[in-house]
Amino acid sequence: MRVLQVSAEIFPLLKTGGLADVAGALPAALAAAGEDVRVLLPGFPAILSGVAGLVPVAGLRAPWGEAARLLHGRIPALGQLPAYVLDAPALYDRPGNPYEDAEHRPYADSHRRFALLGWAAAQLARGADPHWAPELVHAHDWHAGLAPAYLAYLPGQPARSVFTVHNLAYQGRFGPDVFAGLGLPSSAFQVNGLEFHGDVSFMKAGLYFADRITTVSPSYAREIQTPAQGQGLDGLLRGRAGVLDGILNGVDDRVWDPATDTLLPHRYRMPEGRRMAGKALCKACLQHALGLEVRADAPLFVLVSRLTEQKGLHLVLDGLDALLARGGQLALLGSGDAALEDAFRQRAAAAPRRVAATFGYDEALAHRLFAGGDVTLVPSMFEPCGLTQMYGLRYGALPLVHRVGGLADTVTDCTLEDLAEGTANGFVFDGFTARDFGRALRRAFALFARPADWRRVRATGMRRPAGWAEPAQRYIEVYRHAAAR
Ligand code: ADP
Repeated sequence: MRVLQVSAEIFPLLKTGGLADVAGALPAALAAAGEDVRVLLPGFPAILSGVAGLVPVAGLRAPWGEAARLLHGRIPALGQLPAYVLDAPALYDRPGNPYEDAEHRPYADSHRRFALLGWAAAQLARGADPHWAPELVHAHDWHAGLAPAYLAYLPGQPARSVFTVHNLAYQGRFGPDVFAGLGLPSSAFQVNGLEFHGDVSFMKAGLYFADRITTVSPSYAREIQTPAQGQGLDGLLRGRAGVLDGILNGVDDRVWDPATDTLLPHRYRMPEGRRMAGKALCKACLQHALGLEVRADAPLFVLVSRLTEQKGLHLVLDGLDALLARGGQLALLGSGDAALEDAFRQRAAAAPRRVAATFGYDEALAHRLFAGGDVTLVPSMFEPCGLTQMYGLRYGALPLVHRVGGLADTVTDCTLEDLAEGTANGFVFDGFTARDFGRALRRAFALFARPADWRRVRATGMRRPAGWAEPAQRYIEVYRHAAAR
């Protein structure tokens, strides 16, 4: 099937979170399974410079009159993946983060920046490139949410659509005045359409108009149908439950494998004997590089995260004294909320040999943290899938997570029965409270004090199968259902 993936980010060209990891891994897995896959991306500077051999395919004029060029090339960093890029410098040629300005304010014209993305997908479906047209458009998150809407109104529906929710909390909601410029029929702007409490919602457009919907874990697929986690869209999602699937993200072995990871000072593999000298060396190197005491016996907790309320970081701050009192260390890498940055900066300044905080985006350090860490903290309030706990599993840094979303689907707590059955692979807490988080921390310390058990649990985590082949098969089934509709 000819499949067009539409996404605002793609690893390794441009990444702010898990969406990029998925967009960078899924096309290759689909192609390996025999699908004819291309991607459509906005022409942000990092994307334009990462796509080779760009040639013009079509000149486009957006419904609101703006001109853009549709280019085609290949992404060398992704095995020459064929890519369409929207060249519209007035919309995309801005330094830094694709969604917000230097003061962390969302760009005022983001409705146009991303309407163009969805609209261009529909133009490809109706033949903008005479050599290739998608039979199926797979739109990711609100940035691509208008693609299913535009497609739904094309005469003859030349392509079906699948919409994937990576995080329902970011909805792309704009005032009603933007609707007129979008070039959609007025009937689209109603409750049975993309209207959401009087506003235009790109997320709702995707959820309402797509032939099929997916989200990134089975638990999150259930959770978003509840008022507590539905962000006001749970009614619509319950109504569409019959076309909604939860497909757990995979781990891209080309990028995340401690046996081949060139970003690590030492590589290691399982099974090679459970002691893994390479991992111990990674820990010592990391402690040294971050200015922490180089101690094998101090459990090192690592955290790689956007710094937002979603990620439950206040639990880590609240629990930090207890963590340090028990002899642990904390190493954090994150960027985002200034108040959270300040809080961690202060904690690191107060105990520089035991707490390290690095701010900004650093792919290499992220890899070294999972490799050097003993425990990966992911105490998110909600988590659609979560990738860092999966990287923690793969790299032998046992995840400590809140039982929610994809975290619940991937981590099994060290209860006595799961230890006995060999299924435990981390630490899971139920209540989103300092008390429950603290108890999970204590379980981690208790297990760390029993090295043989620790190594056994770690081996279970590292052996968890998690490539992209299986999720790709699941997506292909969804595509077939969409096509058969
Ligand atoms: P989300 O998409 O909500 O940010 P995920 O766990 O799904 O959360 O994906 C986060 C991805 O971003 C992971 O690949 C993680 O390693 C990476 N990441 C997060 N923060 C940073 C950072 N400061 N530097 C490098 N990588 C980061």
